[in-house]
Amino acid sequence: PKISPFLEPGKTTQVESLAILQLSRDNLQPVYLKAPSGKHDGYAEGAVVNTRYGSFPHSTMIGVPWGSQIRASKVDTGSRGRNNKRKRNKSDDDGKEDSATVAEEKTEQESTPAEVNDDSAAVAKKIVADVSGFIHILPPTPEVWTSSLPHRTQVVYTPDYSYVLHRIRARPGSVLIEAGAGSGSFSHASVRAVYNGYPSEGERKGKVYSFEFHEQRFHKMNQELKEHNLNSLVHLTHRDVYNGGFLIDGKSPEAEAIFLDLPAPWEALHHLSRRNPKNPEDKEWVSPLNPKKSAHICTFSPCIEQVTKTVSAMRRLGWVDIDMVEIANRKYHTSRERVGLNLSMDRGVNNSARDVDEALSRLTEIEARFREHAARSKESDDEVDGDEDDGLIKRREKKEQKGGRKRGGEKKVKIDHKPDSPESFEALPSGVPMWMEGRLITRGEPEIKTHTSYLVFATLPIEWTEENEAAAAAARHPVI
Ligand code: SAM
Repeated sequence: PKISPFLEPGKTTQVESLAILQLSRDNLQPVYLKAPSGKHDGYAEGAVVNTRYGSFPHSTMIGVPWGSQIRASKVDTGSRGRNNKRKRNKSDDDGKEDSATVAEEKTEQESTPAEVNDDSAAVAKKIVADVSGFIHILPPTPEVWTSSLPHRTQVVYTPDYSYVLHRIRARPGSVLIEAGAGSGSFSHASVRAVYNGYPSEGERKGKVYSFEFHEQRFHKMNQELKEHNLNSLVHLTHRDVYNGGFLIDGKSPEAEAIFLDLPAPWEALHHLSRRNPKNPEDKEWVSPLNPKKSAHICTFSPCIEQVTKTVSAMRRLGWVDIDMVEIANRKYHTSRERVGLNLSMDRGVNNSARDVDEALSRLTEIEARFREHAARSKESDDEVDGDEDDGLIKRREKKEQKGGRKRGGEKKVKIDHKPDSPESFEALPSGVPMWMEGRLITRGEPEIKTHTSYLVFATLPIEWTEENEAAAAAARHPVI
């Protein structure tokens, strides 16, 4: 069977496979790359992704190394309106759309509505003209999938799941139970953690047993698992785990790692015992846990009341090493202060103004820069005014006479100091590149994209039997 691009993406993008388009830092879009058969959406090029950065035919994104920059293309928009109509009718007919269509429609929302719905010549011209943009094409990973997946529920974000997977000891060959599946964010991260390719004889295949009781979410997730070629490694069951527990066709999945993202984890815990909690002598009772390994669990709950109930149930059921963690993840945005605001004596290690003379000479240097920049901007302003032939001084005098701006104007004093602006790479007479000017400023980003929850961890040791004891005694080194 085809291996999931989430697990082994290969070196280049492939047709009929999932790719993630990165439009800007936080704007990621999943797309299923289609063969350029010329049938899609009426474009001669085949399927096309339209964004505010231009149009990107799938044909330009197939067979390229992951991480490539893709330039926008001119596309033939001739028959697009007709085909859009056909697509609408088709989805009306079957009452559902395939995910490729959904993905495309999502990307179409990126374009202005006029670009998408209006097939007038003017709009076509606009699209053809817009060929300057670019995007990057990334392999699907749990991290980018978490940032781009269609949300059906609250999801677990990367800072939380990376810590959870580490603490519950998910590793290649582990068998993991997860409930509920929700939008599949955790499922994608956990399947990568347990994936062990082709296990050798006697070695277990890493697997995720996932449970979801909401029917639509169950179907949507099943469809996604198939599309991502993960359905042989993630076994999804439609079930209420509070009542139904975690067995698969009455058999134990023999799990040793468990993650519960449920409103009431304590109601599911009694199924995760080694013996029937109501009758420990019950020989018929089947545990979903691996009898040969300690089980490591994490529950994810937003409220402390839920934590209290969970911890209480864990204690009663024999779980040990119980502790709670809250991940307080924070992103930092780092940039440099604009030139001109930073004339203080304290200029950092490589660039310190040691005395007043040096400070003055820097001031002169920067003023000269401002003047030059102001003159350049003025020149372009005046070009718009239509008097290109006048010299700078003359033009300034003229303006002053007219009673216009007396100086270069406040606008002119600002140097566009983005690191990627052409000025940024010019060096000052001191040899310091412009982009290195200014003090480094770091701010915490106000928007923290994590759903903060309390993580409760615990361990359920294996049952220590007479056989274990005999084996331990016989072993040269004690078995722990
Ligand atoms: N961890 C998921 C992710 O990263 O995308 C999100 C899980 S979401 C917050 C919780 C899910 O648990 C919901 O989809 C809900 O339908 C499901 N759920 C709630 N109670 C359940 C139960 N008793 N059995 C199975 N699933 C349940």
